[in-house]
Amino acid sequence: MRRTHAHLMLPTCLIALVFLAGAASAADPAASAAAKMPPNASSQGGQSKSLPLTLIIDDGAPCINVYWWHVAERQKTDQPTLKSGEPVVRDVPVTFVAELAEVLQRRGIKGKLSVLPYPAGLGSIARGLPGCSRADLDRWLAIVRRQIAPRMDITPEILTHSKTIDLATHTLLAENEREWSTHQTAETLTPYIAEGLRVLNEVGLPATGVTSPWDFGSKVEPEYQRAIFSAQQEVNARRHTWYFLHQSSELSFQSKVVYREAGGWLVSVVSQCPDVFWQTMETKDVSETYVRSIADELLTEDGRGGRAADLFRAETPIVMLAHWQSLFSNGRKTGLRVLDEVGRRVEAAWGNRAHWVTCYELAEQIAAGERNQSNEAHPAPR
Ligand SMILES: [Zn+2]
Repeated sequence: MRRTHAHLMLPTCLIALVFLAGAASAADPAASAAAKMPPNASSQGGQSKSLPLTLIIDDGAPCINVYWWHVAERQKTDQPTLKSGEPVVRDVPVTFVAELAEVLQRRGIKGKLSVLPYPAGLGSIARGLPGCSRADLDRWLAIVRRQIAPRMDITPEILTHSKTIDLATHTLLAENEREWSTHQTAETLTPYIAEGLRVLNEVGLPATGVTSPWDFGSKVEPEYQRAIFSAQQEVNARRHTWYFLHQSSELSFQSKVVYREAGGWLVSVVSQCPDVFWQTMETKDVSETYVRSIADELLTEDGRGGRAADLFRAETPIVMLAHWQSLFSNGRKTGLRVLDEVGRRVEAAWGNRAHWVTCYELAEQIAAGERNQSNEAHPAPR
């Protein structure tokens, strides 16, 4: 779409498009048959045959539903509505992050949760947000630290996932981060990313990687890659890191090392499952039948159908995608119930033939050559 790869690569967060593309591909047997992948290391040499799975959760933030701001900006209104006509719910109760933590623990799910350092540009999560009491903010952060961070990597997505912050004045620019990124260089992106990493350190949530809001950085990706590497080195003395920008409907494994420098590495973790939870925002159907039907799109009860099952058969490590708002489902939390059901089915269908890893753990395996390296990119140009 915005890239020149021969295969289909989609920027993150363009969900409606991605969902349709993913669904179309998964339903197309010709596309499946065409995608022959070389066997990965997990099926060779007597190593474990257990396939890694990971779950990316984007757009996490205390107290707010950042999607409200996205739709408000797009619809140019302070009363944004979903396609269904229902008003977008703006605030997310703190209890929701506790419910998310419970599901992740119950199902043994590992992966990544984004935590926005300046959600919607309202303020820094280290200093306080208007509309979010200090008690609620502290409670949200404490739950993430104690109950989620032990099993999920934390990343910024970058500072606001909304308007860009002018770092010199700490005021908001007219451009959102996505537009702003298109005309940046490594020199301007590095301090911007570093600021996000510092805020997360201040609240006790050090980030192993970086998530791109929308398709942030895709127009200047080699510069963006160098900036992520430099910012992690500068703020966290980290030389092994990863980022999430791309989605793919291919069957062969797309995550890869994109940059190496003196023993350090940067891995691009690519989601290969559409955010099936997204559609739960648009319906008031909360029936068990509905929840099971959405779970089927990733993994059917018998373990044979759905996008995750297709990837499992191809021995492609499974990188699933969800969003804070798609699990919240405009207050109904239907998406979270679907996740609970998917987690249950992964265990029931695959047992020890699959295991959850964090995104960083997956990146480590890729960098160590334990996963398919046939598509490893050349280092980014200086
Ligand atoms: Zn996002």
